[in-house]
Amino acid sequence: MNTGTNTARSAAPGPGAPGATDRPLVVAIDGPSGSGKSSVSKEVARRFGLAYLDTGAMYRALTWWCLDRQVDLADGDAVAAAARDFPLAQGTDPDRELVFVGGTDVGVEIRGARVTEAVSAVATNPAARAVLVARQQEIIADAGRRIVAEGRDITTVVAPDADARILLTADERARMARRGLQIGGVEDAERLRAQVVGRDAKDSTVVNFTEAADGVVTIDSSELTVEQTVQAVVDAVVRAAGRTA
Ligand code: C5P
Repeated sequence: MNTGTNTARSAAPGPGAPGATDRPLVVAIDGPSGSGKSSVSKEVARRFGLAYLDTGAMYRALTWWCLDRQVDLADGDAVAAAARDFPLAQGTDPDRELVFVGGTDVGVEIRGARVTEAVSAVATNPAARAVLVARQQEIIADAGRRIVAEGRDITTVVAPDADARILLTADERARMARRGLQIGGVEDAERLRAQVVGRDAKDSTVVNFTEAADGVVTIDSSELTVEQTVQAVVDAVVRAAGRTA
């Protein structure tokens, strides 16, 4: 099995720079779509000199592979088999997204409507989840446990033993606005709302990412800028893990 790990990190932090020690520091960040997780998680990784794992990209890449191979997404066994076979190479550099499946760069396609609309069908398959969770745990180990991992079940299933565990939330209005900005302008607000709320509703049938588990710090980013949210997460990591950024 391809472990799917391809760590492409370049510059190690210099002396005195954030994260200049080699001590393990796993930061687990969960949240719904539009909570600002990805941009915030990447910046937090940079501040502490950590690798970065986007687990949503992994679910999206598997969905792309299933669609490409015409796997029936309603066939749970077929999707689980695809998860076991799929030749993923995913980078962990916060400055450079790298997602390849069988030699094809899928970085752009996995963000498109076709994959976004289908991804919950794959992510709600328990056997496929088990395979991807194991891969995510391998990537965390391969990074020497110096990594920010973000998704829906990182604080609870993938890395419940993380040094810092954070649930990043935002109210529906803020999440819609951010998604609208990301998609390129809110032309059809109702369609957008149905997409985002519908995907979260489907996803939450298998993982709880709306309420913080015991020991998980909730940060509500509704009224915060990206920079303020990054600072709030950095402060939470410093408090939970006793590290400085
Ligand atoms: O974070 P992002 O929106 O890219 O995630 C895409 C999809 O991947 C989610 O809608 C969800 O279905 C799935 N996912 C998941 N568990 C994770 C990360 C993502 O089920 N840890």
